[in-house]
Amino acid sequence: MDIPTYTPAEAPVPEGEIVIERGSTPQQLGPRLNRTAADVVRFLLQQGEMVTATQSLNDDMIELFALDVGAEISLVDPGQEQEVELQKVLDLEDEDELDTSDLPHRAPVITVMGHVDHGKTKLLDQIRNANVVAGEAGGITQHIGAYQVHLDGNDLTFIDTPGHEAFTAMRARGAESTDIVVLVVAADDGVMPQTIEAIQHAKAAEVPIVVAVNKIDRENADPNRVLQQLSEHDLVPEAWGGDTIVCEVSALQNIGIDDLLANLLVVAEVEDLRAAPEGRARGAVLEAHLDMGRGPVATVLVQRGTLRVGDPLVAGPAWGRVRALVNDRGEQVKEAGPSMPVEVLGLSDVAQAGDQFVVAPDERRAKAVAETRERWHREAARARDASVVSHGARLEDIFAQIQAGEQATLNLIVKADVQGSLEAVTESLRKLERPEVRIGFVLRGVGGITESDIQLAATSSATIIGFNVRPGRQARDMAETEDVEIRTYEVIYKLLEDIESAMVGMLEPEFEEVVTGEAEVREVFRIPRIGAVAGCMVQSGTITRGSQVRFLREGTIIWKGEVSSLRRFKEDVREVASGFECGVGLSDFQDLKQGDVIETFELREIPRT
Ligand code: GDP
Repeated sequence: MDIPTYTPAEAPVPEGEIVIERGSTPQQLGPRLNRTAADVVRFLLQQGEMVTATQSLNDDMIELFALDVGAEISLVDPGQEQEVELQKVLDLEDEDELDTSDLPHRAPVITVMGHVDHGKTKLLDQIRNANVVAGEAGGITQHIGAYQVHLDGNDLTFIDTPGHEAFTAMRARGAESTDIVVLVVAADDGVMPQTIEAIQHAKAAEVPIVVAVNKIDRENADPNRVLQQLSEHDLVPEAWGGDTIVCEVSALQNIGIDDLLANLLVVAEVEDLRAAPEGRARGAVLEAHLDMGRGPVATVLVQRGTLRVGDPLVAGPAWGRVRALVNDRGEQVKEAGPSMPVEVLGLSDVAQAGDQFVVAPDERRAKAVAETRERWHREAARARDASVVSHGARLEDIFAQIQAGEQATLNLIVKADVQGSLEAVTESLRKLERPEVRIGFVLRGVGGITESDIQLAATSSATIIGFNVRPGRQARDMAETEDVEIRTYEVIYKLLEDIESAMVGMLEPEFEEVVTGEAEVREVFRIPRIGAVAGCMVQSGTITRGSQVRFLREGTIIWKGEVSSLRRFKEDVREVASGFECGVGLSDFQDLKQGDVIETFELREIPRT
């Protein structure tokens, strides 16, 4: 065979240190050093290494080729390359090397977490309202995703989206935005699954927790029981010799809120939070949306430096010159310093929550960085899709494959209610990966579980995971005939627990939710004193008074509760069968719309095999 000879091309290599990702292929490496893929392949062939243009190279091969063409390179792990390159383009000094000890203090950034209905929203509202000075200009607060309050000459910043899903999604995207977590636990309900989940997330992020035992105004409030339960999760209250600050509050009656705020300031002082107020601003995107009148709007939290109107900004794949900054009172401001949340107008595109933002030296560089990121995003998405294998195992078979010593891949289709929870679920699932089990994400999307999802699952041997979403009736029927497994969850930890159990061969679902009936809302009646009643057509099974209900809009669960009233032609009835019309009342739930679906279900024990 004729070996083509390789002669170093004359073209000059790029100057300075070039960052190369480990495992690059000749196709990727060549152009970076001003060479073609063929140059790399030919060179390696001459060294006795036979590689193709699309094959990953090891470190030695890359170093050897760089040496040969006279390029100065630094090898980095995949994923790191992006940030190293961007740091260079944006010309930013490395934050870690910065000594912060003599910088000014900044306000603590606080996230409220806890179980649903324990009073997170009420607490956030109460804190905000109590601190808006009456008569102050623009005193009407705007929900921009975060707000600041002032107490005894100090500022505190609260993230306005309670719960750990947003928090985790932010972290998954590299944004460490929270300094302190307020864990809300209702005194009449105690520690619940999402309380535990919140504790786990806060601990994983190494963020200090301050406990707010809420609803102490309730007759059946039992704060001591809460303390006991918290101790079992390693949050031992100060009163019991531990180091967890616990405040008893009533968000409803505004009791203990000042004490809670004062304690948050104490924790902030211990944490010694500081940031440089000068210099180009950087921070995190908390929220972003497209506003009909104002174009893309992003709420950002400045973490360092000062953001000013006119600054060229990059936020994830979006960029632009700051046209206006709006604070949490809806007032236009000229600048925003550390820990201050502001809405930014003037971006080219809708950024994503969790994206980092940074002010670039000039507009040209801001644009270049944004475009590079956009391209990386696309390539990364393609690479991820390519990792799905065609013979993935199903959840119940995964352990057998692992035991057989095979490299097993668990193919999943993940559907969730919102982007934030989708990111949180995927990131947490990724963490479960081990050398012997990989997870292949066949599809990740927002919205209900559809027939096309089932089709895809059937052809790719995937299990479908639904988070706060459900399959429609047709999709469910199809799943049955196609033998596709659908698992739906409302708390992340339960989901992770199941997948983890499956991986160690201990998947033993003890209860199964069996759908007993389904009805479509055809018309909504508003009846004085009774409220909204859904005129429905029962489409399968039977609808029974008192049975448990999931209320679905486009496949997404928007409410859970019970069928509180059931009528046929003005008569109260106990149940209505498929094919009949009926009127359904859902206790206090009023937000009914035509086309919504009422799904009733019951729990049935699955006999162990
Ligand atoms: P979230 O789901 O944690 O955001 O909970 P919400 O803030 O929506 O509160 C759930 C329910 O509990 C609402 O009906 C609130 O009015 C009520 N609630 C919140 N805080 C208190 C409190 O301190 N005392 C009493 N009695 N009710 C409260």
